[in-house]
Amino acid sequence: MMDWDAMRGRFHLPPGVIYLDGNSLGPMPKAVPAAVGDVMEEWAELLIRGWNDGDGGAGWMGWPSRLGDRIGRLIGAPAGTVTVGDTLSIRVYQALASALHLAGQGRSVVLSDTGNFPTDLYMAEGLIGTLGRGELRTVEPEQVMDALTEEVAVLMLTQVDYRTGRMHDMTALEAAANAKGIVTVWDLAHSAGAHEVDLAGAGADFAVGCSYKYLNAGPGAPAFIYVRTELQDRVRPALAGWLGHARPFAFDLGYVPGEGIERMRVGTPPVLQLAALDAALDVWDGVDMAALRARSLELSERFGHGVAARCPELLPALPPDVPRGSQVSLRHPEGYAIVQALIARGVIGDFRAPDILRFGFTPLFLSEADVDAAVTHLGEVMASEEYRLPAYRARRAVT
Ligand SMILES: *Cc1c(COP(=O)(O)O)cnc(C)c1O
Repeated sequence: MMDWDAMRGRFHLPPGVIYLDGNSLGPMPKAVPAAVGDVMEEWAELLIRGWNDGDGGAGWMGWPSRLGDRIGRLIGAPAGTVTVGDTLSIRVYQALASALHLAGQGRSVVLSDTGNFPTDLYMAEGLIGTLGRGELRTVEPEQVMDALTEEVAVLMLTQVDYRTGRMHDMTALEAAANAKGIVTVWDLAHSAGAHEVDLAGAGADFAVGCSYKYLNAGPGAPAFIYVRTELQDRVRPALAGWLGHARPFAFDLGYVPGEGIERMRVGTPPVLQLAALDAALDVWDGVDMAALRARSLELSERFGHGVAARCPELLPALPPDVPRGSQVSLRHPEGYAIVQALIARGVIGDFRAPDILRFGFTPLFLSEADVDAAVTHLGEVMASEEYRLPAYRARRAVT
């Protein structure tokens, strides 16, 4: 049995706040400031010696793969298949470029869906434009399976739709893609730390994700990339940075890819952010992902039922029988203002255009009492129509 109350105690949560936005920016684990402070000390005292291992060094250079292995445990990725650094947008580009290079001759379609996050689609467009060949095809999420034709080179999907929370069946789509010789790229932005993922078991080729959502590593924390073991030596990195070179400190003029996942590294690792990630990952030691998933569904269903009973005018973004991630999304034309009114009451969710109110349910720090209080506040906001106040309708840059 997981002790969820003890887990909650490991996070700093401001008093009076019910935080239903850990799916966008996870809250700060209490251990993070000291861990970052320790690395500041290392920087101060060790200076450049910090990069090396042993002999008074701090081993910073090895952190991307070490932390990659720690994330790997949460997503079914064996040791040596994940590395960390750069942003998710960069990682999407990198994975897609490698996948296209591995894809069969004569195939040119990158298949994605209309539920994908825009940056993933923009990166695909940009890459296709640079290559001067290929085509990005987006279909409705329900139609992905039928769209896996012989023309498709790469299937590129975000497993959990950032707006509606709809979750793709990775195992089934992988089986179909493998049977047709299609290379796969999965974006786990709303999966890693949210539910069980078994990349190796499903046979996924590439996966990427970020660490500032459910993994709680802080604003701007680095992304990760997974490459299936059997593919690693065939991958030709499009972002052929010096730290992905077989011998970075030989300073050769020509690029020679590094061993295995090391070749997916690009440049200097963000050591301070990696220190935050390292401490944030401590929270996950001993978390049973099946128990986490069960609890996440329990909390989100409790919220869904509460809202249906109190605020029938807020419509669920998904039919009840569709599998979803760790969020509940509701629709209302005044969604933005309703979310602002809730935030003013200390219940933090967010809004995604055009009309989605989005609430994330992270068992690590949420309780039944939080869920019930959030439902009560939402009910009061709807009944009083306080969201009609002009102050709640003025759009800010980040929604
Ligand atoms: C959050 C998110 C991103 C963000 O990319 P960054 O480069 O980290 O800003 C990209 N893709 C998906 C699917 C996301 O959910």
